[in-house]
Amino acid sequence: MKTTEILIDDLTVTIVRSARRRRLTLEVDPKGIRARAPSRMPVHDIVDFVELKRDWLHKALQGLPERSPVVPFADGAEVLLHGVRTKVRFLVGQRGAIHLTDDALWIPVLPSHLPIVESARNKLVRWLKQQAAEQIEQRVAHYAAHMSVPRTPRHAIKVRDYKRRWGSCDAKGNLAFNWRIIMAPSATLDYVVVHELAHCFEFNHSRRLWQIVEEIVPDRRVHQAWLNAHGYQMYTL
Ligand SMILES: [Zn+2]
Repeated sequence: MKTTEILIDDLTVTIVRSARRRRLTLEVDPKGIRARAPSRMPVHDIVDFVELKRDWLHKALQGLPERSPVVPFADGAEVLLHGVRTKVRFLVGQRGAIHLTDDALWIPVLPSHLPIVESARNKLVRWLKQQAAEQIEQRVAHYAAHMSVPRTPRHAIKVRDYKRRWGSCDAKGNLAFNWRIIMAPSATLDYVVVHELAHCFEFNHSRRLWQIVEEIVPDRRVHQAWLNAHGYQMYTL
């Protein structure tokens, strides 16, 4: 994939080219406007298309939720967990596992050569990855049975550190998920699981794929919107 940025009138558009893509699509989210284009499409075709869609793009940009400022990770900062803003508190000098109470997510952290905040972050990320792996595995098992996904009984399920995607499914039915999805509401995590499992039937984002998804998650657009609106808050760690 190749990414370039161009200014079209007053709109900054990131062009993402991919050999697998057959036609041009535009996306708007809090990170901006992205044009996903086939690798050889001439730039002037992209510019023409963006100009054609100007009004729609402006409306979409105005409709985006206001971004709340991102607070750096620290003792007392908040992180998203299952869609809920949750205060983190460091328990400096204490041993033990991370635990959640009604008040906060408590992170015991022992002094080391690293700054306390780094040690706490590392421990929290490991814990979140573990939580994500457990929940995703359980939800994949549930939905794979429910959707009669071929290639059962076992999919390899990996939890990864993705920059820009929530999950993937390869041609063999191996699934990978972004561990940060544990920060989203459980219903949104379920949508991502169903979406990736649907790729076991339909590799591309065709109408058929969305039909399969919507049979299980009729309000899938709500979850897509949540991810678009909150995705950036999931990258504060
Ligand atoms: Zn997909």
